[in-house]
Amino acid sequence: MSRHPETNAIRTQTERTGEKEHSTPVFLTSSFVYDSAEEMAAAFADDSLDVNIYSRFSNPTVDEFNRKICVLESAEDGIATGTGMAAIFSTFMTFLQQGDHIISASAVFGSTHTILTKYLPKWGITHSYFNMNEPDAVAGLIRPETKMLYVETPSNPGLDLVDISALSEICKSRGILLVVDNCFATPAVQQPLQFGADLVIHSATKFIDGQGRVLGGVVVGRKELIQPLYLFVRNTGPSMSPFNAWVLTKSLETLFIRMERHAASALTIAHALQGHPAIRWVKYPFLASHPQFAIARKQMKNGGGIITFDLAGGLPSGRNFLNKLKMLSMTNNLGDSRSIASHPASTTHSKLTEAERQEVGITPGLIRISVGLEHPDDILQDILQALEP
Ligand SMILES: *Cc1c(COP(=O)(O)O)cnc(C)c1O
Repeated sequence: MSRHPETNAIRTQTERTGEKEHSTPVFLTSSFVYDSAEEMAAAFADDSLDVNIYSRFSNPTVDEFNRKICVLESAEDGIATGTGMAAIFSTFMTFLQQGDHIISASAVFGSTHTILTKYLPKWGITHSYFNMNEPDAVAGLIRPETKMLYVETPSNPGLDLVDISALSEICKSRGILLVVDNCFATPAVQQPLQFGADLVIHSATKFIDGQGRVLGGVVVGRKELIQPLYLFVRNTGPSMSPFNAWVLTKSLETLFIRMERHAASALTIAHALQGHPAIRWVKYPFLASHPQFAIARKQMKNGGGIITFDLAGGLPSGRNFLNKLKMLSMTNNLGDSRSIASHPASTTHSKLTEAERQEVGITPGLIRISVGLEHPDDILQDILQALEP
């Protein structure tokens, strides 16, 4: 009988050393030694990951993290990177070239937006955006030179969703790669490859670490797609540090129980905030009022750990709310054991125009809460007292 993913997140491990250590050791070594000139020559002749040469190429601790993510995403292969952005940029650089076109949801992470609009054009790679609430527009944006469709579901911070299998149908018939940033859901909640995505990307910095300690990223998919990505990372250097891989591989052992608690608390808090007089609306994928609730039920196991709500008082109320919080942290990170509140309009998205913010669902009074692992009553109590006039 095959084991459950919860078990695989704990029991997937690289071969242990002769010391018979129980927990995962960390291989903080930049290179590896050989017993003979012949062995060394053979290692360099082989482009696979089978022999460790140098930690920019491969490292046993990074490999354990990588293998765990692959098992959890039901992926053939994967490559870990130093950050989530390194994973995204490496994916673009590996599969796009001069003259190519990429279609992306307009609601993507800020730095992804910057790569698409400021950097890719330098290499003659163009893009078109579509609004996640109008996925039917995608087919009309496809050109002969379109090579990739890129989405984030749920999106940050708008919590918009797209139907991954519907997009996969469009891509498959036209040979377009479907790439999904699965950062908000994690493999414990959603496995995009099962719905036809070609590549899945994570910022491991968020829920995968889960305790706000280290940066990391990873891309998983079919072996034939990961091999060129691996060579890109190996040669250009955005590799994951073995120390970060050690932190992250231990984090994965608690991913499932953490995501269950994040989601249960988030749903409780989302329900409790609905109808509050200071709030115009509450958004959470597993609330029946979410415009794409049916999609959430189809492809997600739970609603994840992020909720958003819109303060009736707009921009000044957003600042006021943050200033009144007593426990929740004011920081832009998310997916931490500590609950976090942020106000995108005055911080992460303050440089966008009002029209650009509207396009990605950021209203002046939008508050994003990353629901942590504290007791849900304490999180809710802090939010409620901060909402008082
Ligand atoms: C944070 C984040 C990223 C970038 O990851 P880093 O690890 O910070 O480089 C990409 N996508 C989403 C959805 C994110 O939230």
